[in-house]
Amino acid sequence: MSGGQHGPAWDSHRPPDPELIKDCVHCGFCLTTCPSYNVFGTEMDSPRGRIVLMRVGHDEPAISPQMVEHFDNCLGCMACVTACPSGVQYDRLIEQVRPQLERNGPRTRREKWFRGAVFALFTHPGRLRAMVPGVAIGRLLARTPLRRTRLGPLLTLAPPVPLSAAVSRLPAVTKPAAGVSPRGKVAFLQGCLQRVFFGDVNAATVRVLAAEGWEVHAPRKPRCCGALPLHSGYEETAAASAKEVIAAYEGYDTIAVNVAGCGSAMKEYGHLFADDPQWRERAAAFSAKVRDIHEVLAAHPAQAPRHPLPMTVAYHDACHLAHAQKVRREPRELLGAVPELTLVEPREWELCCGSAGIWNLTKPAAAAELGKRKADNLLATGATAIAAANPGCALQITAHLPRPIPVYHPMTLLDASIRGAAVR
Ligand code: SF4
Ligand code: SF4
Repeated sequence: MSGGQHGPAWDSHRPPDPELIKDCVHCGFCLTTCPSYNVFGTEMDSPRGRIVLMRVGHDEPAISPQMVEHFDNCLGCMACVTACPSGVQYDRLIEQVRPQLERNGPRTRREKWFRGAVFALFTHPGRLRAMVPGVAIGRLLARTPLRRTRLGPLLTLAPPVPLSAAVSRLPAVTKPAAGVSPRGKVAFLQGCLQRVFFGDVNAATVRVLAAEGWEVHAPRKPRCCGALPLHSGYEETAAASAKEVIAAYEGYDTIAVNVAGCGSAMKEYGHLFADDPQWRERAAAFSAKVRDIHEVLAAHPAQAPRHPLPMTVAYHDACHLAHAQKVRREPRELLGAVPELTLVEPREWELCCGSAGIWNLTKPAAAAELGKRKADNLLATGATAIAAANPGCALQITAHLPRPIPVYHPMTLLDASIRGAAVR
């Protein structure tokens, strides 16, 4: 492939790799699992179509607005990677394309401002905390015509959380529980959105780890792993966060994460810094030590006794856990071992709920369609509760359930079972 007379649309900094593009044999096995193909129904919104666009970009003189739109329509869910029998590395390809769009794509000033504002807010726990008192007002405003503006999805999705919970802090070090065999130290990432809006999940996670014999180190900094900017092509912003994370956790052998999107991003740091001689090895070594919380726990026999939780729970596979990290067995094992908890499986487990980082903010109508489909599939199981290991999924599913049933992080359920407490 050549750049042609006018030079290629892609610049020379990591254009989509022609060797990876060639791996696609256009069989179409990925189409049914692709959420954007499901909602938009056009070839160019399928994995196969976008891979063709990547090839076209090597010959075209510039990135067209249509190309930007089709790439923006990709949720980055990686269901196509799971489905593809030819082993096409769409994850690597889209990771190469997104920064190209941000550097060279024809985005309007308004769109750039919106994306910049989302990242400036969502990656800063302090700014998110400042927003908490306004959430209740925001939910009222979501009933007004403001819901039809770009602020609409934000107003609808933001969860109500008491200010006291949003500002509560985890101890820097939590010792293993008494009476269990110590398992060593584990570092725990608190996250940005997670620590402010789902601090109870973080507290539950630390209690579960301690009950299983881990000494848990939960430093307040770094504030964010950079997952949202990384998965949106804001390479420099993501790299700055990633460097802070790598430096902060270098002394640990295991870094535990309870957010699917964060874990997936941290496991990608090795790729992010592959061309950086100063950070390449440090990043790769760091990524090799990152474990999703379910991986950490399922790797050892349980020590803490579990008490019964008589409930029927539908397990939702977060894409960044199931497709990007291939973690499906471990959460099911952990929840399945809770006495009297019946685990049920929804149809279309592989299909994204439409949250997908900031996708439900940038493509609200299509995201709502996927959200409703996911919520209906989960409800059709007859479950009395849903388990989801990603805050974005939890918010998206909750927003689209036709009747309210609780959505818990698996750690909340496990913690309640270990403590013999009611689930809140
Ligand atoms: S990405 Fe894989 S499954 Fe999809 S068309 Fe290409 S080869 Fe087939
Ligand atoms: S990452 Fe998800 S939305 Fe994007 S092409 Fe693959 S399956 Fe479709």
